[in-house]
Amino acid sequence: MNNRGTVECAHRVAWTVTNGLIPKKMNVLHHCDVPSCCNPAHLFLGSQKDNVQDMMSKGRHGSRLPDFVERVRLGQNKKKAEAELFGAA
Ligand SMILES: [Zn+2]
Repeated sequence: MNNRGTVECAHRVAWTVTNGLIPKKMNVLHHCDVPSCCNPAHLFLGSQKDNVQDMMSKGRHGSRLPDFVERVRLGQNKKKAEAELFGAA
């Protein structure tokens, strides 16, 4: 939960506490590829494009990435699609 009373992912809170506010349209990404990890040393900022490129470069897209990209392209809620991609839904 963030200071506006809405739910915020733990790793985003960890980033904010350590580094300050997350710029608009930026995501907090993981060097370690563990979605639940909130070690600030494992986190870095990137755009959605960076996130996808990071996934591709690390080979963790499996067979679900094309589906994810297609769903985001079609306008599905990005966070919901991400949550499903990473098995958090
Ligand atoms: Zn980590």
